[in-house]
Amino acid sequence: MFHSAALRLTLWYLAIIMAVSLMFSGLLFRVSAGDLQRNVNHEIGYFNNFLGPGDSDNYSRLRQRQLSEDRGHLKANLVLFNVLVLVGGGVASYWLARRTLEPIEQALISQTRFAADASHELRTPLTAIQTENEVAIRNPGLKKEEAIALIKSNLEEVAKLKTLSEGLLRLANGNGRIEDPRDVSSKTVVSLAIDRLAKAAEQKNIRLIDKSDDHRLKGDSESLVELFAIFIDNAIKYSSAKSSVIITSRKQHRDVLIDITDKGRGIKQTDLPMIFERFYRTDDSRSKQTAGGYGLGLAIAKKITTVHGGHIEVKTAIGKGSSFIVHLPSA
Ligand code: ADP
Repeated sequence: MFHSAALRLTLWYLAIIMAVSLMFSGLLFRVSAGDLQRNVNHEIGYFNNFLGPGDSDNYSRLRQRQLSEDRGHLKANLVLFNVLVLVGGGVASYWLARRTLEPIEQALISQTRFAADASHELRTPLTAIQTENEVAIRNPGLKKEEAIALIKSNLEEVAKLKTLSEGLLRLANGNGRIEDPRDVSSKTVVSLAIDRLAKAAEQKNIRLIDKSDDHRLKGDSESLVELFAIFIDNAIKYSSAKSSVIITSRKQHRDVLIDITDKGRGIKQTDLPMIFERFYRTDDSRSKQTAGGYGLGLAIAKKITTVHGGHIEVKTAIGKGSSFIVHLPSA
């Protein structure tokens, strides 16, 4: 599909180049032929003063023949020039067309992959709900406890679907900038994020230690709470019970750095370049379904950080833990 689009675009570019080239060649031919004709007329007029009538006619015929030969040469040169423009322009147009279409092609490939990954992730809980209900409906002696267990299991799957669709919406929404940026206290957003995860931390007996200072940030406070909640949530998910997660902050030049450090399992160097990609989960995370998640958290975190004009740094060591350091411009 892209090949034919590139060819079509090439033809358009080439048509424009050729139209300009032919127009200038035509103009050049007319101007040059006019100049040649004027020179010849001038010469003939001049020599007519010295030559007799017979010689004058011969000379005039000779110069007119030379003139038409010169015109022919000029025409041939211009045709050759246009053939060269056609060949060179064709190659350049194709190269330009490919360059023009490349980002569009990449965006389309990524969108298609996103849609395929999303449908794949949506299918798993839907299939589970369908299978469980089909089995239940074929069982005439279904007991009340079994029915309640089935409903519970269905609700769990529905909760997963809700989390997934919320994540997908979060990634799809937004136009790449903050609608109404405001002054935000880093301390407030960090502590709101900690509050959100307090229960999950408690369940794993993990201590969330907030050592961060207050700095002024500019942005959307709800998104920033979500951003820090993603890192804290991951820190809890990928740490063993009874460990701790420490949140610190510091100012570096014009940036505020907020650091979420865990003593969890760490991330392999080979996984590091991919963890911010949508739906990417390390093999460890895939095998341990207990950790939950769809591999969307860090992609959302990256998106929020980028629209705030910041970036994320990761330091990690296998078996020792990870630090996610968010660099955000201060207000
Ligand atoms: P999810 O947590 O839903 O799998 P994320 O996008 O939040 O998705 O994270 C992508 C992957 O990065 C996770 O599957 C996990 O393997 C790895 N990861 C993220 N945070 C940590 C962390 N603090 N410690 C170890 N691994 C992590």
